[in-house]
Amino acid sequence: MAGRKNYDIIIVGAGPAGLTAGIFCRMRKLSTLTIDLKEPGGQMTSIYPSKPVMDYPSYDLVLAVELAGSIIKQTKKLGIDFILGERVEEILTVSDGFDVVTSDVRYKAKAVVLAMGIGVFNQRELGVIGEREFTGRGVIHGIPKINTAKDKRVLCVGGGNSSLEVALAVKDIAKEVTLIHRNKSFEAYEFYKESIMNSQVKVKFHTELKEILGEEKVNEVILFNREDEKYEKLKVDLVVINIGLVPNFKKLRDWNLEVDNAGIKVDSEMRTSREGIFACGDMVSYPGKLKLLISASGEGSIAAESAFKYIQKKNQEG
Ligand SMILES: Cc1cc2nc3c(=O)[nH]c(=O)nc-3n(C[C@H](O)[C@H](O)[C@H](O)COP(=O)(O)OP(=O)(O)OC[C@H]3O[C@@H](n4cnc5c(N)ncnc54)[C@H](O)[C@@H]3O)c2cc1C
Repeated sequence: MAGRKNYDIIIVGAGPAGLTAGIFCRMRKLSTLTIDLKEPGGQMTSIYPSKPVMDYPSYDLVLAVELAGSIIKQTKKLGIDFILGERVEEILTVSDGFDVVTSDVRYKAKAVVLAMGIGVFNQRELGVIGEREFTGRGVIHGIPKINTAKDKRVLCVGGGNSSLEVALAVKDIAKEVTLIHRNKSFEAYEFYKESIMNSQVKVKFHTELKEILGEEKVNEVILFNREDEKYEKLKVDLVVINIGLVPNFKKLRDWNLEVDNAGIKVDSEMRTSREGIFACGDMVSYPGKLKLLISASGEGSIAAESAFKYIQKKNQEG
């Protein structure tokens, strides 16, 4: 059974970063196990399967689920073992490498590649009245399943890429979408900014969410315009808050990994602060990091190659 043997590499996470790391591990003929708590594909399959991706080389337009499908197919052909539906809880350093511990089983490897995407972060909260009370009842932090917005009046909060991506992803199925940002302009890619400005999404700059109201579920919010200092009520069914991520320091510290505000610190070879553990994709932080599919894949290849060199060196030493 997959997972019962000692692997060269265990990859945690089967998004684009982890899947690509797997491809490059197999190019080096390393025995490779990939563990994911969900289905493979990462955010492409779990969050935005039906969204078109237009910035991945070789496709001018491809549905996320199809892009994920091609990468998954490629990994399966290369002989990567997969364990799905298990969450990695701990990584222990042992004499011959690492024990990767899930709730059910302990898997062994000489090196580990972490590719858990946003799995080790918590969404930043606004701290406004009603936010906690209505979480799960019309308030979502992070990226909702696109269908959640069907026929709803949606308020997107935040001016970064994630918030604009959500607004763009739901605009055609939602009843109406309002996007608010506390500053005077978005901090996002020009492509997203332009798409928002050319769409039916209603944009309100200089605007803060002050209060979320409702009964069983959210039905209204109170907004505050920082320029004219006026309050406004808006009827909404769904509030989607994307104002950044806060690393789950406890978990990462328990794993003994050095972090900064943006994620796990890695060097140009995707080495973490723990020898033999490499990381790639949305969870890593380095100057110039982009949270994109193509960067996740690129970093996956570097992490795999670095892990290969690490194992080679260990083998020579031992
Ligand atoms: C709405 C939206 C639209 C986007 N559109 C684009 C786009 O058009 N183009 C683009 O380039 N980028 C886009 N992105 C960004 C892109 O999806 C991410 O940069 C990319 O998915 C990061 O890949 P990853 O492999 O690092 O992480 P993920 O895709 O998040 O994959 C991480 C995997 O790790 C697993 N995992 C997490 N924790 C554990 C654990 N403890 N144990 C086991 N498994 C675990 C998760 O289940 C997941 O499958 C978009 C993002 C969003 C949210």
